[in-house]
Amino acid sequence: MPSGKVHDWVTLGTALGALPLTGLYLPPETRPLAWLAIASYAFSGIWLSSDLDVNSSAYRRWGPLRVIWYPYQKLVPHRSWVSHGLGVGPILRVAYLLGVLTLAALAFNWLAARIGLAMQVDPQSWLLHATDWASTYQREVIALVIGLVAGGAAHSLLDFAHTRLKRWL
Ligand SMILES: [Zn+2]
Repeated sequence: MPSGKVHDWVTLGTALGALPLTGLYLPPETRPLAWLAIASYAFSGIWLSSDLDVNSSAYRRWGPLRVIWYPYQKLVPHRSWVSHGLGVGPILRVAYLLGVLTLAALAFNWLAARIGLAMQVDPQSWLLHATDWASTYQREVIALVIGLVAGGAAHSLLDFAHTRLKRWL
């Protein structure tokens, strides 16, 4: 596979390259949505990289929080459809991340109840807020999802092109 640096540079380069194009080709009212999609694309490529399925620079980038991705890395075979599949890869990573955060919130509540702490977090009300927000800002959600999926797709296509080129040489 291409190194993490190559993936990072391609992600950043294409994201920065797309920014001026939005100014040139899109009407002013749709530009913020395009910027949102581009930001989501960069986040997807850099932070939610498909290579979180292996001990990669993307994985180490999470610092101490990389422990979140440890089970993912152990469960998902490197470059399988789960992590590198077009479209599904980033969506599954977001679902995984939300699942881990929910479990962390529940564990926190359990611990807080044990030590008699009044503070509790309520993942159910977060979910309600999130679905409320998503139904109010549907266009923004679509832009976020497009960026997310495109970030994963750019990664997988680069992996694919790199493998092909290596075989050909
Ligand atoms: Zn990869």
